[in-house]
Amino acid sequence: MFYRENEEYVSPQYRRYAHKECAKNFNNIHNLAKRVLKEYYIEQRVNKNIKDFVTNGMTLKEIYDVAYYWYCVQTLEPVFPEKSQGGFGIVPYVLPKYQKYKAAEEMKKKINKGKHIKDYVNKESKKIIFEVPPIKKPRGLNFFILK
Ligand SMILES: [Zn+2]
Repeated sequence: MFYRENEEYVSPQYRRYAHKECAKNFNNIHNLAKRVLKEYYIEQRVNKNIKDFVTNGMTLKEIYDVAYYWYCVQTLEPVFPEKSQGGFGIVPYVLPKYQKYKAAEEMKKKINKGKHIKDYVNKESKKIIFEVPPIKKPRGLNFFILK
């Protein structure tokens, strides 16, 4: 995380996450953990999770996204904050599900984009049909006799 990106440097109080973006993501993870784990939240546990997951190649943003997906997006499976041991140990187990979900969401987006283009094309062709000039009424004849 640390020297890889060209991020804005923030105060050294942030300890390991001196980059502004990393510090933000780090805080986001903790704030989410506090929110979803409630009284079961343990700061040191979450710190340990973050350290382990980053060591195994996850980014802070990914850790946040996966935890957010598990606790705040998916509704098919129950979540048990009381079994969390105060942290986000569930994240590596949820990761494959999250990746499937993300891929499906991206597919939906693409399909919707395609639909949008189709609608637009249909509107355009209707417009063209509408613009065909009307048949001219021969002069001097009244075709429409109104009572
Ligand atoms: Zn960084």
